[in-house]
Amino acid sequence: MKIKKINAKECPKSSERNTMIAEIIIDSKAKKLNRKFDYKIPKNLEDLVDVGSRVLVPFGNFKTLEQGYIIKIKPSSEFEVKEIAGLEENLSEDQIELARWMARKYFCNVSECIKLMITPGTRAKSKEKRISEKSINFVYFKKAYEEIDLSQLRGEKQKKLIEFLKQNEGITIPEIENLLEVSRATVNSLVKKDILKIVNQKIDRNPLINKKVQDNQKLRLNEEQQQAYEKVKQAIDQNKWEEFLLYGITGSGKTEVYLQLIEATLQKNKSAIVLVPEISLTPQMLDRFMGRFGKEKIAVLHSKLSIGERHDEWERIKTGRAKIVIGARSAIFAPCTDLGLIIIDEEHDSSYKSEASPKYSAKEVAYQIAKQKNIPLLLGSATPDLTTFYKAENKECTLLKLTKRANHSNLPQVEIVDLKYELATGNKSMISQLLYEEIEKNKKEKKQTILFLNRRGYSTFIMCRDCGYTLKCPNCNISLTYHRSQNLLKCHYCGHTEKPVKICPACQSTKIRYFGTGTQKLEQEIQKLFPGMSTIRMDIDTITKKNSHEEILRKFKEENMDILIGTQMVVKGHHFPKVTLVGVIAADGSLNQDDYRANERTFQILTQVAGRAGRENLPGKVIIQTYNPNSFPIEYAKTQNYDKFYQTEIALRKQLKYPPFCDIILIGFSGEIEKEIIEVSNYMFKILKQNLQKFDINLFRPMPAPIDKIQNKIRWRMIAKGMVTQEVTIVLNKCLQNLYEKNIKHTKISIDINPNNMM
Ligand code: ADP
Ligand code: ZN
Ligand code: ZN
Repeated sequence: MKIKKINAKECPKSSERNTMIAEIIIDSKAKKLNRKFDYKIPKNLEDLVDVGSRVLVPFGNFKTLEQGYIIKIKPSSEFEVKEIAGLEENLSEDQIELARWMARKYFCNVSECIKLMITPGTRAKSKEKRISEKSINFVYFKKAYEEIDLSQLRGEKQKKLIEFLKQNEGITIPEIENLLEVSRATVNSLVKKDILKIVNQKIDRNPLINKKVQDNQKLRLNEEQQQAYEKVKQAIDQNKWEEFLLYGITGSGKTEVYLQLIEATLQKNKSAIVLVPEISLTPQMLDRFMGRFGKEKIAVLHSKLSIGERHDEWERIKTGRAKIVIGARSAIFAPCTDLGLIIIDEEHDSSYKSEASPKYSAKEVAYQIAKQKNIPLLLGSATPDLTTFYKAENKECTLLKLTKRANHSNLPQVEIVDLKYELATGNKSMISQLLYEEIEKNKKEKKQTILFLNRRGYSTFIMCRDCGYTLKCPNCNISLTYHRSQNLLKCHYCGHTEKPVKICPACQSTKIRYFGTGTQKLEQEIQKLFPGMSTIRMDIDTITKKNSHEEILRKFKEENMDILIGTQMVVKGHHFPKVTLVGVIAADGSLNQDDYRANERTFQILTQVAGRAGRENLPGKVIIQTYNPNSFPIEYAKTQNYDKFYQTEIALRKQLKYPPFCDIILIGFSGEIEKEIIEVSNYMFKILKQNLQKFDINLFRPMPAPIDKIQNKIRWRMIAKGMVTQEVTIVLNKCLQNLYEKNIKHTKISIDINPNNMM
């Protein structure tokens, strides 16, 4: 990591020939500080720092040291400059380049992007919380297991220990004592025999350490899998930047293709990143990876890890001990050594787009990283994002198809129930006659049922029958949801709670009624309708403690409960062999949303839910209840026909000019002073109108957002439709900069391209 020496004639003053200047970005969210500052590199750091170094610098009044990042090194500065005070960590030049690219693309500060890439728990500002670097003894094989002369082993305990270590190398002695009831003496005697060794290492809080893994044997790929495998393998071998879409129905064996491609990557001594939606990071899914590669090689990154655990995983990745990173969105920034492959599973999932600044899309970032490193990017889905499939159709990415279920299980049979008809025949309950009968039948056959409803809570809105007043959160302009278990009204946006009311606050009428159905009410109704059956509920409200999500799934599976009731969370990635019936209580929830992706989301969710039924040899059945049986997303979900759905929806998008035929630029303004918001947004409208004139972009006037208040912040927005090219991005950044220079005090401005949430 040496600084490139420059020759003397480039240097302005001979006396300062050897002093290098670093251009530094200060770690700050303040938009004004989103620019470069020059600092001298002191002699003692010359050989240590480079582009990408995280350093401490005196800033402002000299009293505090700020953290900054070196983005360029140059021979001289036109300013009188201060010196860098210390070095914290070195990032790579690639990472800095990526951060700068992200800052432009996602309209944020470079430092905000760099922060996603630095080792968690080492930030200068949280120094006091810095991880203590204790070291601990870990037990490893001294030679490979195959070379051990098993006749040397004495007694059951030694054999038991060796067998255990085959899958669990790198474990501590106290853990061995706990898990196996084998004593320290047994370990020591095997160390004496040169079979085991003890290695003193910096402590690793590997979240997988206590997991026992079962071998997961490599499967023989079927023809389609083999073809997909070979195409991507070729790109790995040739160090080629290429984007692939693996489009395969649920159960078609996409994961097996991933596993074998990762194996090919490891064989080249390279590492791989696998992104999965947060919620799919289930033990079942991890088991498959650990069973194949062993847990030592795998690092898992997700939001439930403590900062210490995250720090350790990061270190294992950085040092190359962990070569496979599995994680949710932000794992794309994992500091892999020699990255060879990126996989994004369930690529259509909306969690890959960040809702908070930097509002990045992990798919776009992955694409950029793949380009930087000349490696393949593999996206996989049963219901690809419309935009991705459109790219594949236009040969911008390579389409790989899996059309058959790999274990020859049949796709479930799907039936649609018209809820309008149910109502007409006098059934006011949430469960149609057909679903009722099927649940009963399923129970008789000792099978399990999943019921899916995409709303949590008990009643989803509360209204006065006399005057029409609805109860809303005082901080947000949003209906309150009644939660029966705590007997509270809750705001799902800000967490505000209040006591339920019996009298209308507006007209004092007593005709306050609770409408809408959430999972709590559904559970109660199910218990009434099927008194003998056991139920378990999974939604954000039942998931609170660490691991409780896994606990619910484990309980449902192992204790053989009859019915699992849940929101979106039950949809993804789980594999329940005994679930043969899936009921969708109301498919319309996502249809009527004010969002151009409503059809797509409905289709995706119904197809994914249906995929939970009959995963193995038992035939599955899916019942979809809806008020709109003839809407095309529901009709095509019935036959699980993605291709037909795609054709219909893409034609609509083209006609209405929605992505992928244009981008939606959402510019948000929020704050407490509406007058300023209006001024600022109108000013922005004016300058954008001038500056975007030469582009084919449709700019709409600012107006209050559909949810015009959240957490006491007033929200306005402005929408533009058109292709966001590089030139347009530059213009948007310039206009934003222009606004910041106006010294706006109370209004926050954000720009989001194709946001997940249009509200
Ligand atoms: P997907 O990821 O597409 O949903 P999976 O990889 O989970 O599919 O595969 C579904 C089932 O098929 C799993 O039980 C898996 O073990 C099995 N499977 C996958 N590939 C093969 C294969 N080549 N031969 C036999 N079984 C397979
Ligand atoms: Zn009233
Ligand atoms: Zn609220």
